[in-house]
Amino acid sequence: MERTCKPLGTQAGDFGQGAAPIGPADGRPRVAIIGAGPAGLSAARFAQDKGLSVTVFEKEDRIGGKSYSVLHGDALNELGTCYTTRAHRQVKKWMREEGITLQRLGKAVYDGRPIRDFVKDGPGGPLVGQALRFVRAAGRLRHNLLSRPSDPDVRREAAMPTEDWVAGLKLGKIERAMVRIQTAQGYGYLQETAAGQTARWCDFDFLLSGVLNELHMPEQGWSEFWQRFARRLKVVTDAHITEIARRDGKPALTVNGKTLEFDAVISSAPMDDFIRICTPTEDDRFIAESVDWQAYTTTLLSSPDWFDQYQVMGFSDAARGPDRLGAMLGARWEGESADLGGRLYITGQFSRGLSHEELRDIMREEAVRHGFSIAAIIDQRTWKYFPQYRREAVAEGLFGRLQSCQGQGNIWFAGSTFSHELVSSVVEQARGVVNQMARSLSVRA
Ligand SMILES: Cc1cc2nc3c(=O)[nH]c(=O)nc-3n(C[C@H](O)[C@H](O)[C@H](O)COP(=O)(O)OP(=O)(O)OC[C@H]3O[C@@H](n4cnc5c(N)ncnc54)[C@H](O)[C@@H]3O)c2cc1C
Repeated sequence: MERTCKPLGTQAGDFGQGAAPIGPADGRPRVAIIGAGPAGLSAARFAQDKGLSVTVFEKEDRIGGKSYSVLHGDALNELGTCYTTRAHRQVKKWMREEGITLQRLGKAVYDGRPIRDFVKDGPGGPLVGQALRFVRAAGRLRHNLLSRPSDPDVRREAAMPTEDWVAGLKLGKIERAMVRIQTAQGYGYLQETAAGQTARWCDFDFLLSGVLNELHMPEQGWSEFWQRFARRLKVVTDAHITEIARRDGKPALTVNGKTLEFDAVISSAPMDDFIRICTPTEDDRFIAESVDWQAYTTTLLSSPDWFDQYQVMGFSDAARGPDRLGAMLGARWEGESADLGGRLYITGQFSRGLSHEELRDIMREEAVRHGFSIAAIIDQRTWKYFPQYRREAVAEGLFGRLQSCQGQGNIWFAGSTFSHELVSSVVEQARGVVNQMARSLSVRA
C-alpha cells in the first residue's frame, strides 16, 4: 500500500536560521532558551516582547516538541498535543494572530455515555455544588503551596494521593470526573498522583472544559501553528545543547562544538536531562530525582467497523490502576482514508516498560473485547509524558524547590515539570518565569 507519512515542519530550511550566528544584541541582555517546544517558544515570545535579545536552540530538526501533527495521505493526524481548553486563552489569542482556526471537538462518550451522565452517577450531592467545593479546596491548596511551601501541614496535604484527598472532601461525582479528566488524559492514576500536583492544574476552567467537552482542535494542526508562531523568533534547529557552564552569572552553552555566552538561560528540557549537561545545584538534583516521567503511547490505526457516531470514546476500566497498564484509555476518530484501510483513530495507552510490539498485541486484544476490527496499525509514538511528582518528594518540600531553583546563576526553568503537561500551563509558567528573569536583569517586567 502506498502511503506518505510526513511530520510537518521537518525541513531545516523552514526556519532559515539553522546556521545563523548569534547576532549582536545592541546592548540588550542576551537570553538563550533550550528547547523549541511550547514552553521554550512561548518563553521566547514573552522575553522578546520585553526587548530582550533571544535565541532558541532546538536539538531536533523540527520545532513544536510534543506538538506533533503528521500527514498520512490527505489526513492530518495529531499524534501529540490535541485540544485547547477554556484555559488556553493566550494560546488561542496567538492562534488568531497566526490565522489558525479552531474546530470544536465532536461528541465524546465515556463508557458509552455522555461524560456528564457518567459523572452524575457518582455519589453525593449535586454536581455543581461538588464542583464548587472542589475548586475552592484546590485553589486553597494551590495558594498555600505558593505562599507557605515549607509548612509541614501544607506539605502533608499536598502529598496525599489524589484519590484519598477527593474522597476526604466527600466529592464522589468529582472523583468520577477525575478519572476522565486526569487519568484518561494520561495524567496518572488517582491513587498515585499527589493531591498538590493535581490541585495545581485542575482548576475551574479545566474541570468545566472536561465535563462539558468544551475542547477545540486547530484545523491547520498544532505543528503548523508553532511554525507560524516561530517565524517572529530566532530559532536554531539541529542545535543540541550538550553542556552548560555556570560562569558567575554568565551562563555559557556548548552547541555543535561552539561555546556561546549569555546573560541568562531558560531551560525547558526535562530536569533529569538538564542535570546531565550542567553541574546541578542541590535544588536541581532534588527536582530531577523527584519526578517519575510517565510513558504514553499514541497509535494511529484504521478500522472498517469502529465508531463513527462520536468523535471520542473513553473506557474507565483502563484508568482503574496500574494493574491495567497498557489498556486502551480512549480513542479519537480522525477522519477516513480508503488507502489506509477505512476510518482512522488515534488511541492512547500508558506504556511504561512496554515495547511497541507488546502494545500492539494489547491493542489487538482490546479490539476484540470492544468489538471492532483493526485493518492496519499505521503509526505509533511513545512520549516522555507527564512528570509525575513522587509523593515522598512532595512531603519533603518539592514545591518549595520548584521555586528556589529559579535564577541561580541566571539559569531559569520552564516546561511541564514546573507547571503541568498542558500547553496552557507551560505558557503561563513561562510568562511568570520571564517576568522574574526580566526583573533580575533589570528590564521592565
Ligand atoms: C499524546 C499527547 C497529547 C497531548 N494533548 C494535549 C492537549 O490536548 N492539550 C494540551 O494543551 N497539551 C497536550 N499535550 C501536552 C503538551 O504537548 C505538552 O505539555 C507540551 O508540549 C510541553 O511543552 P514543553 O515545551 O515543556 O516540552 P516539549 O514539548 O517536550 O518540548 C521540549 C523541547 O526541548 C527540546 N530539547 C530538550 N533538550 C534539549 C537540548 N539539550 N538541546 C536542545 N533542545 C532540547 C526537545 O527536543 C523539545 O523539542 C499532549 C502531549 C502528548 C504527548
